[in-house]
Amino acid sequence: MPLTKTITSLPEIDQVMDQSMQAFLEYKKINATDRAAFLERIADEIEALGDILIRTTQEETNLPEARLLGERGRTTMQMRMFAAMLKEGSWLEASIDHAIPEKVPAKPDIRKMLVPLGPVVVFGASNFPYAYSTAGGDTASALAGGCTVVVKAHPAHLKTSSLIAAAIQKAIEFCKMPNHCFQHVIGTSFEIGKALVQQSHTSAVGFTGSFSGGRALYDYATVRPKPIPVFSEMGSTNPVLLLSDALAKNAETIATQYAGSITLGVGQFCTNPGLLIGVGSEGLDTFKITLANAINQVAPAKMLHSGILNAYETNRSNALTTKGVSTISNNNVVNENSAAPMIAHVKGIDFLTNENLKEEVFGPYALLIECSDIEELKKVWTSVSGQLTTSIMGSDKDFETNPELMEMASQIAGRVLLNGVPTGVEVCASMVHGGPYPASTDSRYTAVGVNAVKRWVRPVCYQNCPDHLLPDALKESNPLQIKRMINGNPYQ
Ligand code: NAP
Repeated sequence: MPLTKTITSLPEIDQVMDQSMQAFLEYKKINATDRAAFLERIADEIEALGDILIRTTQEETNLPEARLLGERGRTTMQMRMFAAMLKEGSWLEASIDHAIPEKVPAKPDIRKMLVPLGPVVVFGASNFPYAYSTAGGDTASALAGGCTVVVKAHPAHLKTSSLIAAAIQKAIEFCKMPNHCFQHVIGTSFEIGKALVQQSHTSAVGFTGSFSGGRALYDYATVRPKPIPVFSEMGSTNPVLLLSDALAKNAETIATQYAGSITLGVGQFCTNPGLLIGVGSEGLDTFKITLANAINQVAPAKMLHSGILNAYETNRSNALTTKGVSTISNNNVVNENSAAPMIAHVKGIDFLTNENLKEEVFGPYALLIECSDIEELKKVWTSVSGQLTTSIMGSDKDFETNPELMEMASQIAGRVLLNGVPTGVEVCASMVHGGPYPASTDSRYTAVGVNAVKRWVRPVCYQNCPDHLLPDALKESNPLQIKRMINGNPYQ
């Protein structure tokens, strides 16, 4: 079987998705222990690729070795985390309500658990060639949930993607998993992506990337005869509130912290802080000067690919030519193929009247919005659309004066940060990486952490089903020894 298939026609897509569906019928029955061993083996095989993987990705993405080593560690850790989740078992949300025959009317025996949706199509992200791409969080969580996966490789790192696909294939063979439970395809046009989403066996889609791409996939899915869920994680400007007392006390420290966050990884993170919002004051002036100075020290650097660099320059130029916008940093060093970091400035009133300033400029750029008072700051903050994150830099005094800010923050974003920077997404059970539209197409789910598996499963309940016909997770004897909710009491 070819590890990587370049697809140019619709019949080839039908073949790939037919194979994925055939594999699903077997794969979904594989017990948790064996599925966990498979995920662990994928992690081992990725590590076994060694330096060749890191060097290949460096060449394809311009990302430095240290970053790639860290990201590879995160990717294998995610695989092992989902393996541990499978062994523990409570993620299945198994619950049992015993019959009460004497109740009027009689209550039947009802038992519920989560079951996998079917074949999942994953669009690899360009900015995380490991952790959100071929064997990234979407693939790991879907395989953990019992779904088969078809990855459409991101064109910006095809060699990396093919190496990782080969590692997964080795794990399939070693663990004797069904052929085609994972497939890796290269598409040559948007038509291929569209057809993958619309193929009748496709049961769900995972995507990280641009707003236009994520929205297009969502729209393809909703006009199918049978619509399916599309989990697109798209752009975010991650607004940051700079409150007055915090700035009066710590403007320089906060500015230095944010200069690092804005330029981290050449600004190519979905959690990059793109909007900084404060009220005009001496503290904000100090913040502005310190931030501009710090940004001026950061050398231009290569972005992931020329398309991303072009988009950065076009989107930044659209912002900079808007009424009232000026630049406050002067890092004008021109370096072919490299992105210069930049901070722009605008008054609150001009921000509120120019919708284009609310759009993401993906790269090492932020817009400082200077408001006339706290009421204007709140208007600016709530005028932006749904976000992955929002951060508040504030002191106790700031929160005493403005107690409503915390409640407002949870309406805006999936992750609310206090006195920190939004870049750096911890992988843990409590993480939420998602948010109200357009940060993601379904704000009820996270793309990071164990709960990411919930995107690929659905609940089924069995009524009055004899024990021998029930799935193991719901049998009275509890052969899997997993935590279950019994008669409405959590986890007896
Ligand atoms: P992208 O353009 O959204 O593409 C990602 C994947 O989706 C590619 O495989 C692409 O297919 C596919 N795709 C995009 N539009 C499609 C459509 N209309 N129909 C079918 N398939 C479609 O993302 P990118 O290449 O990584 O970067 C482009 C821009 O996206 C960046 O400049 C940045 O602004 C933004 N971005 C944002 C984030 C974030 O986390 N917020 C992350 C990465 C990128 P092809 O292979 O055929 O091109």
